[in-house]
Amino acid sequence: MAARGAGESSAETLAPEPESAGDSFVAAGSPVNVLWMTSGLGCDGDSIAMTAATNPSLEDLLRGCFPGMPPVIIYNPVFAYETGDEFMRAWFDAAAGKLDPFILVLEGSVPNEEINGDGHWAAFGIDPSSGEPITTNTWIDRLAPKAAAVLAVGTCAAYGGIPAMRNNPTGAMGLRDYLGWDWTSRRALPIVNLAGCPVQPDNITETLLCMVLHLAGIGPAVALDEQGRPERIFGRTAHESCNRAGLAEHGQFSETHGDGRCLVKLGCKGPVVKCNVPTRGWINGVGGCPNVGGICMACTMPGFPDRYMPFVEPDLSARLYTTAARFSYGPVLRYLRELRIRTTYDVEPAWRRRSDRLETGYSEPGSRAA
Ligand code: SF4
Ligand code: SF4
Repeated sequence: MAARGAGESSAETLAPEPESAGDSFVAAGSPVNVLWMTSGLGCDGDSIAMTAATNPSLEDLLRGCFPGMPPVIIYNPVFAYETGDEFMRAWFDAAAGKLDPFILVLEGSVPNEEINGDGHWAAFGIDPSSGEPITTNTWIDRLAPKAAAVLAVGTCAAYGGIPAMRNNPTGAMGLRDYLGWDWTSRRALPIVNLAGCPVQPDNITETLLCMVLHLAGIGPAVALDEQGRPERIFGRTAHESCNRAGLAEHGQFSETHGDGRCLVKLGCKGPVVKCNVPTRGWINGVGGCPNVGGICMACTMPGFPDRYMPFVEPDLSARLYTTAARFSYGPVLRYLRELRIRTTYDVEPAWRRRSDRLETGYSEPGSRAA
């Protein structure tokens, strides 16, 4: 917030490497610091999104919602009430090995400062010796080797995102593209790619919590898929958990916005996009792109946005899908299911009618024995 005053850690040297993944990386009573850089090429949308988290909330995280978890201090310029040198102190301390352990978070993509001409693409803070701005890339070079864990938050930081789309002038890239896909932290942890544009709020706080618990030795490392995303969050497609998937199964597709059917013919990319937002909703379980009528634009995917443009038109796989669903499986299934509903599930039992005989199947107690 510096959710507490900057530079409160008094560690003089980096903590020793743990013996194994189960060991704590955090001294008893010490906080886990989160140094959150928003100076990548981005919009600060992930920082803003995190303020809407409810499960756990940002306040839960800062107050220590989980028994045994260490205190957490987040240094983020969007939230900080410290300014100038007071805010920058933690960053210089971390670069000097005096703030430890810390999780380095990058928000926004990494520009290519090799091609910056006479200026620079992104920076924050001033170098006291030269009086020049310190580039984002310099901060990454200084801090990444000292970080216990690294989180690339948002699709820009993870894969480059919108600033890295075709014809951009900055040579922007994701953090793994910059540091190397095999790069690992002092804790031997790979960079966590938490994708989304922005990231779903609870996905941010939950992932941070898991990383903190792991560093404290009371939780496993975040398991990642081959694109570096948390498996638990990105293990299913948006389509698999969309509340319109049942309509898609029946070949029911919207031709215009607002009629509540599957949106794939309007450009929804849900069938090929890994994202848990339709399951988790957006704020406190409410909302979630296709659930509420917005097409999935594939914002969690490494190829976003170029691979999925134009957003509002179905691509080849969507056309094949809707054609197949319309002429084969979907309509046949719908016909048979509606037949069963009409003849079996949507009718009263036969004995509920006027009759001079009891037809419920009732028999007098003991009558069978007799
Ligand atoms: S709206 Fe999108 S995510 Fe939902 S069922 Fe249709 S294609 Fe799948
Ligand atoms: S459902 Fe699609 S557009 Fe919405 S957050 Fe997930 S990937 Fe992004």
